[in-house]
Formats: sequence, C-alpha cells, structure tokens
Amino acid sequence: MLTAMVRYLCGALALCVACGSALAADSPLLAYGARIAGDDARTRVVIEFDRAPDFFVHYVADPVRVIIDLPETSFGLKEEDMEARGLLSDIRYGAMGAGSSRIVLTAKEPIEVSLAEVKPDEDNKGFRLVLDTERVSKKQFADLIDAQKWTGSVVAAKTGRVTAPEPKTENGTFVVAVDAGHGGIDTGAIGTETKTVEKDVTLAFARDLVDHLNRRAGIKAFLTRDGDEFLSLPQRVQIARRQSANLFISLHADTLKQRDIRGATVYTISDKASDHLAASLAERENLSDTIAGVALSNEPAEVADILLDLTRRETQAFSVNLAQTIVSSFEGQINLINNPHRYAGFRVLQAPDVPSILLELGFLSNKEDEKLLVDPAWRAKLSELLAGAVGNYRTATVANGG
Ligand SMILES: [Zn+2]
Repeated sequence: MLTAMVRYLCGALALCVACGSALAADSPLLAYGARIAGDDARTRVVIEFDRAPDFFVHYVADPVRVIIDLPETSFGLKEEDMEARGLLSDIRYGAMGAGSSRIVLTAKEPIEVSLAEVKPDEDNKGFRLVLDTERVSKKQFADLIDAQKWTGSVVAAKTGRVTAPEPKTENGTFVVAVDAGHGGIDTGAIGTETKTVEKDVTLAFARDLVDHLNRRAGIKAFLTRDGDEFLSLPQRVQIARRQSANLFISLHADTLKQRDIRGATVYTISDKASDHLAASLAERENLSDTIAGVALSNEPAEVADILLDLTRRETQAFSVNLAQTIVSSFEGQINLINNPHRYAGFRVLQAPDVPSILLELGFLSNKEDEKLLVDPAWRAKLSELLAGAVGNYRTATVANGG
C-alpha cells in the first residue's frame, strides 16, 4: 500500500520533470507503440511516446478500472497491440476534454498498479510508460479507492470541462442544443461493413443539423461538442441547461445484433422501456461514462421534490410531442423502424427542464443504413427535415404559450 503511494509520487515527479518538454512542444504527445504481456496474476502495459509523458493514475470501481490521464495525445497504436489480456478485460484510449487524453484499463478482478514509471528508450528515440498491474483482494482494492479520495477534486477537474458562459439569448430566440453522441475515448458503435465509427457519423450530422437550424429565423442552435472529445452524459445535459436550451437533440447511429433491422428511431425518456430493443440500447448508451472511466456519482435524491416532478412531467410531454413531430416529418421521406417512437431510461435525456430526444439516425449494423449514414446528400436531406420538424414544434409550442 505504502509502496504503491510512494510509486505514485514518483509518477508525479516524472510529471514535473516532463513539464518543461511538454510545455515547450505545442504538438500533442505521440503514442506510437504498445505491448501488453502477462497472465492472471500480473500484467504489464508498455506504451511508447515521442516525449516523456506527464501522467496521473487513479482507480475507479464497478467495474474495476485503472485510469491513466495524459496530456493531449495522438494515439498511433495498432489495435492488436492494445488488445486486452492477462488481468485486463478491456482497454480504451482517446481524447477527453480539451488538451487531455486518457487510457482506461478495465480489469476482470481487483488490481493494483504496483509500478508506474517513465523510462527513456535504450536507443534514446523516445520514452516508455511502464505500468505493472497485480491482482489484489477486494479489500485491498477498496483501500486503494479510499486512499485516493483526497484527490477527488483533482479527478473532477481533470474530467470536467470548462463550459462557455451563459449567453444572453435575445427575446424569443429558440435555443437548440445539438449533441453528437460519443466522442474521444468513447468511439461508440463501429460499422460492420466499412468500420465507420459512430462518433464521427454523429459529429458530421450534428454540424450539418446546426447549420440547417441556424438558417431558420428565430432559432439558434449550438453543438455540445465540436471536435473529437469526450463529454460525460451529465456534462452534455449540463451544457444544454447552462445555455438555456429550449430543446436537446442527441444524435446516434448504433449497432444491433439483428443486422436486418434498419431505419431511424426517435427516443424519449421513460422509467419503463417501451420494448426490449429500447431497453438494451439505453443500457449500452448509458455505459459511455463507464468506458471513459468516469466514476458514476450518486445523484442527489431529488425524487421528493414535487415541483421538480411536475416540471419533469411537463418536459416529458413536450419531448413526446417533439418525437411525434419528427416522426411525421420523416414519414415517406426517411426510412423508419417499426414503431419509430420508442422510450427508455437514457441518462443523456435526463434534463428535468429541457425537452430532450435521442435520434438513432439509422444502424451501423445494417449495410444499407451504413451507406446512407456516410452519404452527405442523405445527411443534408435528414438535417433539413429535422430542422423543419423543430420549426413546426416551435410554432406549435409558441402558439400554446410553451
Ligand atoms: Zn450511440
């Protein structure tokens, strides 16, 4: 335990030693090589960088994860070199917020990082980050989590995002938050045919939709993310609320086991899922924060608040209204799934006061859908129809004093 702490301090020292070089270079770090070796007792992860990386290691429980926070890093790693083995069941890496990247090691059993150090390569070409993980008892892992509690605020700061100041919305401007699903370390689904990555599809659509919305008088749309970065699900909700959004639209293009299923689906939030497909999709979407190594916080108990409950119910009615408006504007124009309005417990749709929908544009598991999802003409057509639906929804709610 003590040795582990001492070694972390060494990690922190390495951090300071590296500061000079990291600051001097404007370009992101480059991770160009990796290897993972070991068995069920200990597993070593070695990652090669062009410069000495400044890093920070911490643990997250349920499931057991080791998080390695890094400055902005471009990962030029071969997928097969980062394949999980030994004690590890999954390895993810990618961008987090601005200027930071992350590696998440998910373990099959409780583990401890017994060594974490940066060494220069023998040939002086670069630096190696060496992490040794060892199996520990549940109790030892719980102690590790407890011991790092004092760094809680640091962790929050690292994963947090500086949100833009609240804009002064002109009177009557209808503000729409457009949320490109996934991003950074969380790639989302991957297309079966051409390996299309969901986070890229959603961002391309989100940008296009914002353009189409902003062409309409009285509507001001903005993106929750405008780059390949990770946002936690609560952060997405928070960004929409801070900017006083009147609507929140989260865009996705997931995969299903049933490859023949295709077409767009509009989801709204509900405690009880409309069907099995909706329930499993929400379950997978809600894993986004786990993939990125964000510890799920115990949300404050707001349940007893009657006013909030009323707001929620009203918001939900607006969300359902929007979903129906979108479905009818897509009908005959865009391929829809059977029962295109479905509902489930999506965490990203949780804003109590912002009507929110999640739109599955189509499925990357379906050949035909995948072709459409990367087609700019189809994207433009869908964006225009969607912007039209938002316009109709706005007119209807304004007429009803909403
Ligand atoms: Zn998704």
